[in-house]
Amino acid sequence: MIDHNKRTAAALKYAARGWHVFPLLPGSKRPACPNHSAARCDRSDPFCRHGHQGWEQRATNSELRISRAWNRHPFGIGIACGPSGLLVIDTDRPKPGADAPSVWRHRAAVTGEDVLAELAHARELPDTHTVSTPSGGFHRYYRAPRNAQLASTAGRLGWLIDTRGQGGYVVAPPTQLVDGRRYTTTAALPLAPLPDWLTAALSRRAGGSSASPPHVAGRTVPAGYASAAVRAEVDAVRAARAGQRNHALFCASVALGQLVAGGLLDEAPIRYQLHLACADHIAAGAFTTAEAMATITSGLHRGGLTPRTGPRNRSAA
Ligand SMILES: [Zn+2]
Repeated sequence: MIDHNKRTAAALKYAARGWHVFPLLPGSKRPACPNHSAARCDRSDPFCRHGHQGWEQRATNSELRISRAWNRHPFGIGIACGPSGLLVIDTDRPKPGADAPSVWRHRAAVTGEDVLAELAHARELPDTHTVSTPSGGFHRYYRAPRNAQLASTAGRLGWLIDTRGQGGYVVAPPTQLVDGRRYTTTAALPLAPLPDWLTAALSRRAGGSSASPPHVAGRTVPAGYASAAVRAEVDAVRAARAGQRNHALFCASVALGQLVAGGLLDEAPIRYQLHLACADHIAAGAFTTAEAMATITSGLHRGGLTPRTGPRNRSAA
């Protein structure tokens, strides 16, 4: 009974923050209702009288509905990110035996927290409401921007980093899984707004190109130009020979930094891809990870001074 009260109180507390909650099957991460998919909906469920209602539509901040549900059953708590105006950054630990991307292989025990720290390098990652997860990762809750519909992503920002937005949910404390592992609030803080650099990185299509190509002086940048440029620069870094490696990394960083400044690419994933591209050089001892990052930062900065939205003018380079 005490546990029931604790869960009800937690669900009510989330609702008071404006978050929309829904019950999870006891001991699991799965929504308790509906008990059928949209395809199998026969409208007999009272919620579905006027059309199928999934967990996201059923999520609520109504005190009455919350008290009724959690007082009666030992449900876990799900928070529907979309209706709650939340964007949650979800870091994980590698699964046992998982193959790390080559850039991380020289380091032992890399986690999603390490990857996020690298992405956030020299950027703002404000403290916000944070929850530890049973898998050893963290959920950072940010206020989603009002003008961008950010869907959930898996691995888009980097290895071991997912995000939960529209159409996604998080399992919230004090939910306990059947094996006894719990979700625990580690920082009960007011929500910070999602930083602009993360909004930008999550607003674009996968691959780094803009959702709609920018118009430049009456012409349209060819679709896919930016991602082709990324591939070419990444290949150039990979193929660099001894003695040329640092220079190649700097040149690629400058070239892509120009496209970042031109609004065609997001910096965080580019930084990550450039780092991945020099994995073999780091492994070969050409430079350290820290030196590679310094070169990338310096190249991106240099490129940022001369924004570009189309193919490079070689004579001016
Ligand atoms: Zn239904």
